[in-house]
Amino acid sequence: MRKREKHILGKDEIEIGPLHLRQMLMESWDQLDIFLESIFCTCGVESKKLVQYKPYLNNLNDVILRGKCSGCNTIATRYIETGERKGVELIAKRIRNRN
Ligand SMILES: [Zn+2]
Repeated sequence: MRKREKHILGKDEIEIGPLHLRQMLMESWDQLDIFLESIFCTCGVESKKLVQYKPYLNNLNDVILRGKCSGCNTIATRYIETGERKGVELIAKRIRNRN
């Protein structure tokens, strides 16, 4: 099976900037590198990470990083479940109002 060449954005996703990404990740901002390094990709390259990514926010208040796998240069995604966190709803609402 061939991998898609372009990301398909959900209808509910909005692109956010680095500052908003930081706000959404809250205390796990420190672990951003770990998120970037734990991506799923079929290439099997051992030390790979998500590069050239853009952050998005969806309706569930989760963050989706869409970029490329450094191992094979094809598209890769990292989904971060931020929506369940306490207080995140308000932050997400504020970000949406600014967009
Ligand atoms: Zn890869």
